[in-house]
Order: sequence, then structure tokens, then C-alpha cells
Amino acid sequence: MPANLLEGKPIALKIKEEIKQQVQALGTKPVLASVQVGENAGAEAYAKSQQKTADSLGIEYRFQKLGKETTEAALCEFIQKLNSDKSVNGIIIQMPLPPQIDYKKISQFILPEKDVEGLHPANIGKIVFGRAKVLPCTPAAVMELLKETKIDLNGKEVVIVGHSEIVGKPLALLLLEKFATVTVCHIGTSQAGKLQDHVKKAEILIVAVGKAGLIKGDWIEEGTTVIDVGINRVEGKIVGDVDFEGASQRASLITPVPGGVGPLTVTMLMRNTLECARLQRGK
Ligand code: NDP
Repeated sequence: MPANLLEGKPIALKIKEEIKQQVQALGTKPVLASVQVGENAGAEAYAKSQQKTADSLGIEYRFQKLGKETTEAALCEFIQKLNSDKSVNGIIIQMPLPPQIDYKKISQFILPEKDVEGLHPANIGKIVFGRAKVLPCTPAAVMELLKETKIDLNGKEVVIVGHSEIVGKPLALLLLEKFATVTVCHIGTSQAGKLQDHVKKAEILIVAVGKAGLIKGDWIEEGTTVIDVGINRVEGKIVGDVDFEGASQRASLITPVPGGVGPLTVTMLMRNTLECARLQRGK
């Protein structure tokens, strides 16, 4: 039987309504500072979509673009100014950055209490102890999708493909908090020829790699829940990492790409901005 679609938009709408009400209750507009370095059409489109969402929720979005020659030191100095600007509640640095800037290095200069992407080591560390208030946006989006399915994660075989710092690794920690049995696959798994074996064991499969068609439809067992985080442009179309046609014949639930994780990721960024503003006000 073909799978049901697990769509992000209706969940995002519900959460946005909650954010809007909580922003109103806060009394003042939370402020999100967004910094882009150099020209990049993708980053610009993403920032525009953030601006639109922020506007609709009563969050002030302050976008600033720095020249493509900006040095790492100059960007750090810029971040320090935003850190000490009391009117700014959250800071996001748009990706990609020019080659002279190391994101991992500069992201650590953002104050943990203004880290709306939840990627500062201090915030990632809190996930290990189950005390994080601000979660990385994409893993948080995946957790919201799973919440919507009402599946009890306790003891479930969850297979994550992709072990990046922004998706796979923090997501594994969040799932462990829910007592799921988590397997994390990566390039080494594929090189060892074991990816298909692991995917077959999944009751819940989450893929975040960035390679169209990596996961074949017939690798998926009947009844699996499939969350495809991947975004790939193939012949002018956006597709995920999972062969959607094949997988949806076997899965019980599957996210569409686009329309699955994506709409929730921006919503999580706004929720984090609100949370940072509240924490800074001691709420
Ligand atoms: P990264 O490139 O940082 O990570 C990709 C991961 O996949 C790495 O762990 C890599 O391993 C692993 N990998 C690469 N090739 C294989 C393979 N053949 N088999 C198994 N694992 C492999 O990407 P991100 O985590 O940043 O993003 C992943 C995808 O998710 C992208 O398509 C991105 O566009 C999308 N994305 C979507 C979002 C949304 O809102 N929907 C938000 C964020 C990302 P190794 O590093 O060891 O090579």
C-alpha cells in the first residue's frame, strides 16, 4: 500500500501560531541579526524566506551583508559587536561562507545565549545532558515530525544516514533521549558496503546526506517511517536522498521533498529566537 505523506507545512503552521502568541506575550519584538558574507543566490533566497517568516511572527529580522573579501578576523569583530548589542537576541551566519572563513571557528564566537542555530559547543554539550533549551534547527524539525506521527520512540530501531555536526550527530543524541535504539551510518558504512543492511533494519529511517537516489526504494522494509532531509537539484527539480517513488510503495509514512523537513527548519529558527529572547529576559 502506498505510504501516507508526512508533511511539514501543517505542523509548521501550528507551531508558528504558538510562536506568534508567545511573541505578543513577551511585549517587545525579539530581534534576529542575520549576516551574509559575499554574494550567493541560495543564501539570499534562504535569508528572504527567514525574513518573511520572521515578519509574519512579529520578530524583527536585521539582515546585513558584508563584502566577499571580509576576513575571518573582521567577521569575528562584527559578531562581537552583535554579541554586545543588547537589542540583538539572536545571531545567524548564512552559509556558504567564502573560503577564507572557517564556519566552525567563527560560529564559536557567537554567545551561546544568542546562538539561534543551537550549534555552539556549549549548546550541543547541553543536549548530551538532556538540558538543551535551544536545539539545532534541522534535528529539532525532524523531532517535531516524529512527534506528529505519535510513534513511541522507546526501543525503536532508528537509522540515521549522515553524521554531520548540524544534522546527524545532534539528532542521534535527541533520539537517545527518547530511548530509541540509534544507528548512525556515514561514508564509512557505504564504503564498507553495509549501508543497505542497516537501512533494512530501520523502523524509522532518517537520511541527511545530499546525494539524490542514495537510498533505493527496495532497501526499505514494509511499514518503515522515512524522513528525507536531503535537498538536491536534479534536472531543475528539488529531490531528496531517497528514491521517493520506490520508497513510498513500501514505507508507511514518508516526507515529501520539498515540503517535509524544510518548512519546519525555518520555524525552528524562529522558535529558537523567541527562546533566546526569553532566556535573556530571565523567563
Ligand atoms: P554534510 O555534507 O555536512 O553531511 C553529509 C553527511 O553524509 C556526512 O556525514 C557524510 O559523511 C555523509 N555521506 C556522504 N556520502 C555518503 C554516502 N555515500 N553514504 C553514507 N553517508 C554519506 O551535509 P548536511 O548534514 O549539512 O546536509 C545533508 C543534506 O541535508 C543536504 O542535502 C542538505 O542540503 C540537506 N539539509 C536540509 C535541510 C532542510 O531544512 N531540509 C537543512 C539542512 C540540511 P562524511 O562527512 O564522512 O563524508
